[in-house]
Amino acid sequence: MNGPIIRLEGVEKVFGEFRALKDITFDIAPGEFFSLLGASGCGKTTLLRILAGIEQPTRGEVTIDGKPMAGVPANKRPTNMVFQSYAIFPHLTVRENIGYGLVYQKLAKAEAKARTDEAIELVKLAGLGERSAHQLSGGQRQRVALARALVCRPKVLLLDEPLSALDKKLREEMQQELRSLQRTVGITFVFVTHDQEEALTLSDRIAVMSGGRVLQIDTPQGLYERPNCLDVAGFVGTMNLFPAKVTRAEGSRTVANGAGMGELVGHSHDRPSAVGAAVFIAVRPEKIVIEVGANMPGLNRLVGRISSISYLGDRSHYLVEVEGLAEPVAVYLSNPAGRALHGAAGAEVTLSWDETSALVLER
Ligand code: ATP
Repeated sequence: MNGPIIRLEGVEKVFGEFRALKDITFDIAPGEFFSLLGASGCGKTTLLRILAGIEQPTRGEVTIDGKPMAGVPANKRPTNMVFQSYAIFPHLTVRENIGYGLVYQKLAKAEAKARTDEAIELVKLAGLGERSAHQLSGGQRQRVALARALVCRPKVLLLDEPLSALDKKLREEMQQELRSLQRTVGITFVFVTHDQEEALTLSDRIAVMSGGRVLQIDTPQGLYERPNCLDVAGFVGTMNLFPAKVTRAEGSRTVANGAGMGELVGHSHDRPSAVGAAVFIAVRPEKIVIEVGANMPGLNRLVGRISSISYLGDRSHYLVEVEGLAEPVAVYLSNPAGRALHGAAGAEVTLSWDETSALVLER
């Protein structure tokens, strides 16, 4: 099949008076690692539960693998779900837990065993099949939960913050494994997380959600480099925002006047900005160059004073106070071997950037 594996059209969910999901419309391609990213309460889990068939949409249509899902119960869908709490049986062995995923499939014994063995291999639990689940570490339990979902060979695996109970180091390890597992099995993963770094690391594409809506869907690089609104810019990475008023717009190239900062140039996301509009010129911290001293004023140049430098080994984070700005400007510089830091706290510096790395975001 060449079409999407999942299609959502105008999906809404209302709980009593509360609209938890509003007009959700997008497609997911077969084999994608697709993440739903957003703060707590934005509707990620509700959307996942609608895909699973645990929850019904109030309006709109869900199509999976070319078939409309209205009225199709959870256990008849080509999906399977992995939950945040692993929900495995502590008194059963690893093998019994994983095999439990097949109880409704009425397979011959040999086939069930072969599939269970395959799933145990996939999640790297070979040799631990006979161990009781209560003797496993957190990471191993999560692998059992994954294997139990994969053993049914679903077309779509739905994962609700499956790594959030693990500590940082183990979580990072499991992220790599999850990604390589997804490539090996080739099935579509829909992954819910509120952790932007996790979403960026794992995903082919990410839907950023807020207040029951999808704000933007793009690749990790697309979201980072071309956020379409302030919420996305703020949620994915750090963004410096310079308030300004548009004075000229030539296609997507926008010239604006920053209060006390001279002329700033940026590029609008899709449509040109209106002259006079209040906007932010938005620049990522690693796109900014620092020179010591108050150099020639000009386009996209700000003079300020370093308020702090944090040395982080491979890079340093600078905060620079600029007159007229409420927040200090964040600047990230990489630290190649032997290079001296640019100035010290208190030093006067000039900040500049290439206009192609500045965006215009509506205020
Ligand atoms: P979290 O990361 O905290 O799980 P989320 O983005 O997954 O958040 P949802 O669990 O989808 O958010 O919830 C979205 C909104 O819908 C929340 O405000 C929640 O309180 C509300 N909600 C979810 N389920 C129900 C329900 N059964 N009845 C009433 N309100 C609900």
